[in-house]
Amino acid sequence: MAVEITESQIGKIVEQVLKNMSVSAAPASDKADWDSTHYKQRTFAGIFTDMNTAIEATYEGYKALRNMTVEQREKIITEIRRLTREEAPIMAQLGVAETGMGRVDHKTAKHILVADKTPGTEDIVPTARTGDNGLTLIEMAPFGLVGSITPSTNPSETVICNSIGMIAAGNGVVFNPHPNAIATSNYAVDLVNRASAAAGGPKVLVCSMAKPTMETSATMSSHPLIRLLVCTGGPGVVRAVLASGKKAIGAGAGNPPVIVDDTADIPKAAKDIIDGCSFDNNLPCIAEKEVFAFDKIADDLIHYMRQNGAYLLSREQMEALEKIVLVEQTGKDGKTRKVINRKCVGRDAAVLMSKIGVTVDSSVRCLICETDFNHLFVQEELMMPILPIVRVHDIDEAIDLAVKAEHGNRHTAHMHSKNVDHLTRFARAVETTIFVKNAPSYAGIGFGGEGHTTFTIAGPTGEGITSARSFTRQRRCVMADSFHII
Ligand code: NAD
Repeated sequence: MAVEITESQIGKIVEQVLKNMSVSAAPASDKADWDSTHYKQRTFAGIFTDMNTAIEATYEGYKALRNMTVEQREKIITEIRRLTREEAPIMAQLGVAETGMGRVDHKTAKHILVADKTPGTEDIVPTARTGDNGLTLIEMAPFGLVGSITPSTNPSETVICNSIGMIAAGNGVVFNPHPNAIATSNYAVDLVNRASAAAGGPKVLVCSMAKPTMETSATMSSHPLIRLLVCTGGPGVVRAVLASGKKAIGAGAGNPPVIVDDTADIPKAAKDIIDGCSFDNNLPCIAEKEVFAFDKIADDLIHYMRQNGAYLLSREQMEALEKIVLVEQTGKDGKTRKVINRKCVGRDAAVLMSKIGVTVDSSVRCLICETDFNHLFVQEELMMPILPIVRVHDIDEAIDLAVKAEHGNRHTAHMHSKNVDHLTRFARAVETTIFVKNAPSYAGIGFGGEGHTTFTIAGPTGEGITSARSFTRQRRCVMADSFHII
C-alpha cells in the first residue's frame, strides 16, 4: 500500500530547517517572516518512503493523465503556474533556509520566471506530410514515467519547471531530489499535485522521496516503468545517468567565461556582469564565473564594477579567501586536490568576507579580484559571488583562454563587444549551448532576454534549453494513398 508522508514528517523537516536558520548563513533579512504553522497543517501529496511504491502510485497518475485531453493537461499547468506565482516567496524562503544558499528576492524572481516562461502544451506541435502516397502524421507522445534527479542550487525551481514540461508532454514524474534540499523540493512536488487535483487531474501525478539517497536514485533509474531519465547537476550525476542504459537527458556543470573587449560599452558591461554574477549569489549554472578583459579597458571595467556593488579584494584578502572557499579532498585515486567548500557555495559576499574577518555592508553584491589564468578561482566552478578578472592583450588570447576555462562543458559563455567579428569568432570557438551578448547571463534563460526558460540546460546530450518537446517520443502514423485531397 502507498505510504504517503503527511504533515508530521515533512513538518519535522521544516521545523528542523527553521531551527537551523539561526545558525545558517542565511542573511538576516531572510529569517524574518517564515510561518511554520502554514507548513505543519498541510498534508503533502506524493511524498513516499519507498521508491517502488512511489513509482507504482505515480504510474496510476500517469495512466489517468493519458485518459485526459490535452486541454485538461493545460488546465493542470495553468493551475501549477498560478500556485507557483502565489507561493514563490514561500519556496524562496524555504530554499534559502534549508540550503543556506542564495537570496530570497532572486529565488522569488526565479519561481515567477518558471511560472511565466516555461512552455506548456503549445510546445507539443504535431506535423503532417502529404503527397502522392497519402498522409503521414508525426505526433509527440509521452515516454510514460520520467525519473528526474534535481540539484540543490535551484531545487523547487527545477521541480516545477520539469513538472510543467513533462506533464505538458503527457508524462508522470518521479523525482529524486538533492538530499540537501528535500523540504524545498518536496514542497514543490506537493504544489504540483495540489494543482493537478484542483484542476481535476490525478492526486499523485508527480512524486518524491521523504529521504532521497543514492540507493533510491539507483532503484528509480533501473525500474522498468521509468522510461526516461533527466538529470540536472554536476558531472558525477550526468555520468551516472548516461551509464544507466536508458534514454537520458543530462544537464551538467558549466564554468561560464565572459570576454570584454575594447569596443564594449564598459559602464554597461560592468553593470551587466555584476548583475548576472551576483544573481542568487552565483548559483545559476549560467552565471558569469570568470572575466577575460582587454588590458586597455580593464581598469575602467573594474572602476564601474565597483560602482555597481563589487568589492575589489586586496591580494592578502584574496589569499585568505582562497584558503576558506577551497578545501583539500583526497580522491579515490589517493591523490589530494582542492575542491570548493560546499559551506561557501551560494553565500552572500558579506558572509564570505566575514569568514576572513572583514566586515562589508550589504550593498556589496560581489567580490572581484585580478588573477592569472591558472588561478583556481578561474578554473573551478565556484558558484559563489567571487569573480576573478584576467587581463588579456587581444581577442586571440581572450578566446584561447576563455575556451580553455570553459573546460569543454559547452554550457554557457558571455561577451561584451560591439565588434561583430569578435562576437562571431568567440561564439564559434566556444560552442556553448547558450551564448549571451551584451547582457547579464540570465538573459540567456529568458529573464530580460527573448525565448522560453528552463532550469535544465542539456548540453551534454544536446536537447539544449529543454521544454515539453524534449520529454516526448516522436511517433509516425501513415495512411497510404488516402487523405491527400488535392
Ligand atoms: P550535484 O551534482 O551535487 O547534485 C545533483 C543531483 O545529483 C542531486 O540530486 C544529487 O543527489 C545527485 N547525484 C550526485 N551524484 C550522483 C550519482 N553518482 N548518482 C545519482 N545521483 C547523484 O549538484 P548541485 O550541487 O546540487 O548543483 C550544482 C551543479 O549542478 C553545478 O555543477 C551546476 O553547474 C549544475 N547545474 C546544471 C544545470 C544545467 O541546467 N545544466 C542546472 C543546475 C545546476
